[in-house]
Amino acid sequence: MTLFASVNSPDFIEFVEKGVAIEELEKRLRPAKYDNKQHEKDVREHAGYANFSREGFIGNDEKLLDTIYKDCKTLESYGVKHHEIAAALNRLISINSEEVKKIFESRNSLSYKLLPKFVRKRLGMRDEIGDSHSCESILNDGYNYKLSSLFTFGEQNCPWGCNSYGQNAGVIYHGPLTKDQKTEIMFAQMGGIDAHEDSINEAFAGVDDDFVLSVKRIKKARNARQEPYYAPITHLLPHLIEVHYFFEGTGSPYRADPTFLIKSLKLR
Ligand SMILES: [Zn+2]
Repeated sequence: MTLFASVNSPDFIEFVEKGVAIEELEKRLRPAKYDNKQHEKDVREHAGYANFSREGFIGNDEKLLDTIYKDCKTLESYGVKHHEIAAALNRLISINSEEVKKIFESRNSLSYKLLPKFVRKRLGMRDEIGDSHSCESILNDGYNYKLSSLFTFGEQNCPWGCNSYGQNAGVIYHGPLTKDQKTEIMFAQMGGIDAHEDSINEAFAGVDDDFVLSVKRIKKARNARQEPYYAPITHLLPHLIEVHYFFEGTGSPYRADPTFLIKSLKLR
């Protein structure tokens, strides 16, 4: 598909909306305002959409049309199509899902068998499978893929209401990583370091002050950063990219920057 004429062109708006008005979509995609105890309030704020993301798919002031349009222009500048990125990500995810399955089967076959089938079909949950995987056939030199060491049982649905859903899958990163960067990546799929700062301060001040200081350093380094060195990958991401041209917003900790994906996924 060629680039839409402008961010305000009716065909572009219709493409993004897919039957859900922009205003409602933006409500669904915003971060949560309230704490977990006030879930009902948050559901109302999210236009009745109960499967909102606590950290948001877009930032508080971000405009969905602007974000998607800008990302379309980025792809066009590289001559790369959305479905090509989605296909490469699906390959990356499926190769590593097989790898996780093998590790479970060989190391602890009983616990693997005890897992519900839908869980077995998806990703694992241990640090030992959070190792890096170079995936030379899919990723460019210098880029690696780390499987998610986090497994959440809550699955994220597509905010457009498609029958598509996903878990954390892993993180593509450009290495080698410093210790702080490893920490930042560890938090990448849990909503980013900001989502955990207060509880880290509470739990680790006086216990592990180095860790508390590293969070401050990480935030400072992130604010000064020009280009991302990692992209969080979920099972939902290929769908969001292929069908909705959506990489998540610049105000979301889950954003997978399209330029980073193009550079890492051998698409240029
Ligand atoms: Zn969808």
